[in-house]
Amino acid sequence: MSASSEVRPVPLAPVPLAPAVLHDDPAFAALRRQDPQAADILLAESQRQAGGLQLIAAENFTSPAVLAALGSPLANKYAEGYPGARHHGGCELVDAAERLATERATALFGCEHANVQPHSGSSAVLAAYAALLRPGDTVLALGLHFGGHLTHGSPANFSGRWFDFVGYGIDPETGLIDYGQLRRLARQHRPKAIVCGSISYPRHPDYAAFREVADEVGAYLIADAAHPIGLVAGGAAPNPVPYADVVCATTHKVLRGPRGGMLLCGAELADRIDRAVFPFTQGGAQMHTIAAKAVAFGEAATPAFTAYAHQVVANARELAEGLEAEGLAVLTGGTDTHIVGADPAALGVDGRTARSRLAAAGIVLDTCALPYGDGRGIRLGTAAVTTQGMGRPEMARIASLFAAALREEDRVREQVAEMAAAFPPYPPAVIERHGE
Ligand SMILES: *Cc1c(COP(=O)(O)O)cnc(C)c1O
Repeated sequence: MSASSEVRPVPLAPVPLAPAVLHDDPAFAALRRQDPQAADILLAESQRQAGGLQLIAAENFTSPAVLAALGSPLANKYAEGYPGARHHGGCELVDAAERLATERATALFGCEHANVQPHSGSSAVLAAYAALLRPGDTVLALGLHFGGHLTHGSPANFSGRWFDFVGYGIDPETGLIDYGQLRRLARQHRPKAIVCGSISYPRHPDYAAFREVADEVGAYLIADAAHPIGLVAGGAAPNPVPYADVVCATTHKVLRGPRGGMLLCGAELADRIDRAVFPFTQGGAQMHTIAAKAVAFGEAATPAFTAYAHQVVANARELAEGLEAEGLAVLTGGTDTHIVGADPAALGVDGRTARSRLAAAGIVLDTCALPYGDGRGIRLGTAAVTTQGMGRPEMARIASLFAAALREEDRVREQVAEMAAAFPPYPPAVIERHGE
C-alpha cells in the first residue's frame, strides 16, 4: 500500500508512563480506595503494557469503549440459552446485546450464522469438534511442531485425548504448507475433518486448496482463523467463510475486541453449532463480553479499522525487512499478515535467549518452533503497536532496537520506554491521583 494511505500517528507529547484509562476511571478510583492491593496490580500491569513494546502476535489494545462494555453490569446477568429462548428471566436487554453482536458478525464476515458465546478461541474449537465429530474420529491438522494450536491434537489437550489427529507439515525450505502432503495424508487417512489454521503461520492459507482436498475425501473443513480473523474483518486477508463448513475465531487478537471466541457457519449447521456451544460445552453466556464483542464488531466495520488492518500488514512487512537487514532469518521470507517468524541463530542466540534479552529491554514477544531442526525461533506481531499509532518508520526503529537488545547494548530499555511513551495505547489525560 502507498505510504500516503498509512494511518499516521497523531503526534502526541510524551506522557508519563501512566494508563490514562485507569486513572480517569471513577470505578477504578473506587477500587483503589476499597482494595489498594488489587488496584496496584491492575495499575502496574497497565503501566507494564504502556511502558514497553508489546509484540506478542496474539495481543492487542482494546478500545476504551470495549473496556467499558466489559466493565458493565451486564456481567451480573445469567443468560443460559439463546435470545428469545433463555432459561432465565429478565433477559430482554441482554438478548438485544447478543442479537446486535450476531447481526454485526454475520454482516462483517458475510456468513449466514454466527455464534458469539464461546468463552475463548479454544472453546470455539471444542464446540466445532463437538458439532461435527465423535470421539475417536480422525482429524487432519497442521502438526503442533509446525504451528498447530493446542486444540489441534496436543496430547495435553482434550483434542489429542479424544480424537485421532494426524499432522500435516510445512516445507522446511520454503516454510510454506506442503499441500501435496496434505492431499496424500487425506487420501491415506480419510479424516472426518480437516483443520486449517495456525498460531504462527505468517502467510494466507490457500482455502480453496483445503476445500478441494476436504471435498475429495468427504471431510468437513474447519478453519481456525483465530489469528487472521481481524485482518479478514478489515479486508486485509482472504475470508475463509465461503470455503469452510465452520470458521472458529477469537475476538481479542487483531480483531481488537474482548477476550473471547466465536463460530461462523452456514444456515444448515446453525442448530448443531448452537447446541454444541450451549448446552453441550458451556453454561451461561458472558453477556458483558458479548456486548463488548458487539462494540468491537461495530468498530471493525468502520473505514478506520480497514485502514488499521492494512497498516498492521504493512508494518509487519516493514518489520520483517528490518529484522532481515539486521541478520535474522525471516521464516517464509516475509509475511502476508500481522505475524513475523524469525530465526536469530545467525546473531549467535537461539529463540529462548533472544526472548529473554528482548524482554530485559522491554520488547515482549514469544518463541516458536522452527520448521527445521530442534531449535526455537521467535514469533511476533504488529497488531498492538499499530493500534498505538506506530507506522513504518517506527517499525524500522524497532528492528534496530531489536538488534541492539540482542547484542545486549546499553540503554536499550530507556530507548524502548521513550518510544512507547510517545505512542500511549490509551489517550493521554491529566494524570491525577484518585483517592489520595
Ligand atoms: C489463539 C488461538 C486459539 C485459542 O484462543 P484462546 O482464546 O487462547 O483459547 C485457537 N486456535 C488458534 C489457531 C489460535 O491462534
